[in-house]
Amino acid sequence: MSLNLKDDVASLTYDAIVIGSGISGGWAAKELCEQGLKTLVLERGRNVEHNKDYPTATTPPWEFRYRGRINRQQQEENPLITKAAGYGDDCDHFFVKDADHPYIQEKPFDWIRGYQVGGKSLTWGRATQRWSEFEFTAPERFGYGIGWPIGYQDVAPWYSHVEKFIGICGNKDGLEAMPDGEFMKPFDMNAPLTHIKQKLNENYTDRHLVHARWAHLTDPQQVHLDQGRGKCQARNMCMRGCPFGGYFSSVSSTLPWAKKTGNLTIRPHSVVHSIIYDEKLGKASGVRVIDANTKEVIEYKARIIFLNASALNSNLVLLNSKSNRFPNGLGNDSGLLGKYIAFHNYRASVSADIDGFLDKYYFGRNPTDLILVNFRNLHKQETDFHGGYTTFMNAYRDQHTPETEQGQVGARYKDDLCEPGSWHVFAYLQGETVPKESNHVRLSEDKKDQWGIPLLVTSVSYDDNDERMVKDFHTQTSEMLEKAGCKNIQTYNNKQAPGLDIHEMGGVRMGKDPKTSLLNQWNQLHQCKNVFVTDGACMASTGNQSPSILYMALTARAATYAVSEMKKGNL
Ligand SMILES: Cc1cc2nc3c(=O)[nH]c(=O)nc-3n(C[C@H](O)[C@H](O)[C@H](O)COP(=O)(O)OP(=O)(O)OC[C@H]3O[C@@H](n4cnc5c(N)ncnc54)[C@H](O)[C@@H]3O)c2cc1C
Repeated sequence: MSLNLKDDVASLTYDAIVIGSGISGGWAAKELCEQGLKTLVLERGRNVEHNKDYPTATTPPWEFRYRGRINRQQQEENPLITKAAGYGDDCDHFFVKDADHPYIQEKPFDWIRGYQVGGKSLTWGRATQRWSEFEFTAPERFGYGIGWPIGYQDVAPWYSHVEKFIGICGNKDGLEAMPDGEFMKPFDMNAPLTHIKQKLNENYTDRHLVHARWAHLTDPQQVHLDQGRGKCQARNMCMRGCPFGGYFSSVSSTLPWAKKTGNLTIRPHSVVHSIIYDEKLGKASGVRVIDANTKEVIEYKARIIFLNASALNSNLVLLNSKSNRFPNGLGNDSGLLGKYIAFHNYRASVSADIDGFLDKYYFGRNPTDLILVNFRNLHKQETDFHGGYTTFMNAYRDQHTPETEQGQVGARYKDDLCEPGSWHVFAYLQGETVPKESNHVRLSEDKKDQWGIPLLVTSVSYDDNDERMVKDFHTQTSEMLEKAGCKNIQTYNNKQAPGLDIHEMGGVRMGKDPKTSLLNQWNQLHQCKNVFVTDGACMASTGNQSPSILYMALTARAATYAVSEMKKGNL
């Protein structure tokens, strides 16, 4: 569906403004438009339309000059963004260019961004497990963070709401550390993983290897067909954009749905500079935008504003929203804006070989992994590190690389290459990190971007807690794989910088007390109630699950609350 961009931007006044059109902004747009609000979505990047703007979606590998891989020029010109998981010649158009969007790394931080309509929803990995009550309560229970103002029961119905609409595949496993949701059937569990799962059940009571949950349509329902989406074809080329709409992105799902209501206006090339605070009204009155191409400054007005520019950009926008009332950034009476930034520990992995199963294979290019559900620090603090961790796991057959008597030539060699090789197992860590005041972002005092907006300074790092978690992960995963009969078990610590996990969170955290937090239980700024922040910036802690589905659930919840408050005349 065309988003009819050009005709729509004549009006300067709307009921609601949404800043950012990615995973969370798409949800804000859908909910606000469906609930009757004339909504303007401001997006700094170019427009991307489902299908029309997926130039490589069906390109075969041999038509790419480098088979879709990164070439030296790309790497030299973009040393940062080319590190991103899955980045390649086949999908580089959905990532920023380093030189266009500088920031200052006081400590190494790989800030991975996709500036376009759809944001990172086009390139995300699509893992969508729910948080459990353990994750909401652990920081306060074990004394390494503040209490959340909400718990699992507050978001459970909103998880269901989101899951049904975007389509999640998974299995109901009945585990308290990873609650079940509204699932379509999962992809098959392959033979070695089924074997490892069984061995874990025999050897442990607390180690559960199960299907992770993924935003892929394995059995599309009417609501998905109504979105114009179809079944996942197991091509595993998602990051190019899916012509079938097999995975969820805001471009294939929430934004066109919002457009159908007739209430959506979307304006690309609109770099939000700041939110305007009206001292007389005591609330925000609109948003100041710089046109990315013409540099023209435009002010849009609205009764409510949803900030969904992704975690660090939402921090930047608020820090840059200065007024007499808020000289240090909008809603920043506590002085904590930009602080307590956290991320996911993605430093560790384990590989192994497993014999046998040579008569077994799998269907297609399965785009999903399994999860070994967190078993650490659930009921009590039992390790020398804080937090829990999720382990993603998969098993695959490598390509058979035979050595024939004739060497690597000839018909027999070619025939052999068509045979799959032996099985290998790979596991990697997704661990909770502890939000710390010292891990922060702030505005540069003297350096600006091409739109005259101060550059963001990132001062965020891993710590000893994270390294102790890595050690435990290595020991435990090696032991489990050994018990399952794996061989050649190798452990790795890639020592990567924060940011590369692409799960940055915090800086505008939710909380019960305005002295220690920026947002209340409805994601409203404590001191400016018509501004809602519902992306990763709102996170008071990181949990160990992939975070984006929680941003979607919180967004839908906050948008519905905002509309009801508007109807009551409170906003
Ligand atoms: C390779 C990869 C794998 C990932 N895997 C997973 C996964 O498996 N599971 C998971 O939960 N998460 C995953 N993520 C993370 C996920 O993509 C993000 O958590 C999610 O996209 C955040 O949603 P958002 O709406 O906050 O930000 P985004 O989706 O990034 O959208 C933000 C939008 O705001 C726009 N914007 C920014 N600043 C401004 C401004 N000043 N003015 C106007 N517009 C602005 C941006 O251009 C962008 O379009 C992955 C990410 C990547 C890249």
